[in-house]
Amino acid sequence: MTANDPAVAELGRWLEQARRIVVFTGAGISTESGIPDFRSPGGLWSRLRPVPFQEFLASEDARRAAWALTLSLHARLADVEPNRGHRAVAELARRGKLVAVITQNIDGLHQRADPAQVVIELHGTSAYAICLDCGARYEIEPIRQAFEAQGRVPYCTHCGGPVKAATISFGQAMPQAAMAAAERATRDADLFLVLGSSLVVHPAAGLVDLAKLAGARVVIVNREATDYDAIADLVVGGEIGAVLGAALGMD
Ligand code: NAD
Ligand code: ZN
Repeated sequence: MTANDPAVAELGRWLEQARRIVVFTGAGISTESGIPDFRSPGGLWSRLRPVPFQEFLASEDARRAAWALTLSLHARLADVEPNRGHRAVAELARRGKLVAVITQNIDGLHQRADPAQVVIELHGTSAYAICLDCGARYEIEPIRQAFEAQGRVPYCTHCGGPVKAATISFGQAMPQAAMAAAERATRDADLFLVLGSSLVVHPAAGLVDLAKLAGARVVIVNREATDYDAIADLVVGGEIGAVLGAALGMD
């Protein structure tokens, strides 16, 4: 992928012209860091099925399966670093063009690439856990120790409620404040840049419609087609790191 590619050159010009960019990211921006996306075969997610929220609430066995997945992901995250894609987004912030990053990811890599940029986490974070009944916050490390040493599933020391990673599971309500912030940022954007999302998870993907309605240019960078390609103003097929590196002249 080079800056001579017509789509990349067009993206470069639009990034130059834009004043209020909102970046919307999915699992695809983190694959270059070594975190598998949702659909890749053989990855973490095909071995360990995500546990739907109702199942987590319903049984200790489901909570144990969910914690096995959370701890496995958490261990993986300790060894990975932000990649060229995360750094390119940080570069947009440095140039004063970035309104916000809206991410579906729970890996915290945008914040690690640039702690100063505004990151709206639509699906929460795996960085800590919370009690589902009273909201008390718990660190992951002591939970890991009790889980690995005694097979203990965590419960709240204040109220006895189930403790879960602060991520949004399938079937769990979206965080209202994050969703409202994402909608505000999207309405304010002149360029809405989608990076590495299959755009099948709603209501998050509906932000693309909102951006379009609000008059922003919509650009999708993804290595496979999405259902939103038809309404996008520009679709760039390829690897995020290479595409953005070339478009921003960072290579
Ligand atoms: P997804 O897996 O459904 O889609 C990822 C898309 O990115 C795919 O279309 C894939 O072709 C593309 N892609 C992968 N690597 C790419 C690359 N290097 N360059 C260009 N395109 C690339 O992910 P989603 O849309 O985010 O939805 C899955 C859900 O699972 C999300 O809600 C997210 O919360 C969760 N999830 C998070 C992580 C994470 O935090 N890193 C990882 C897996 C899943
Ligand atoms: Zn509690």
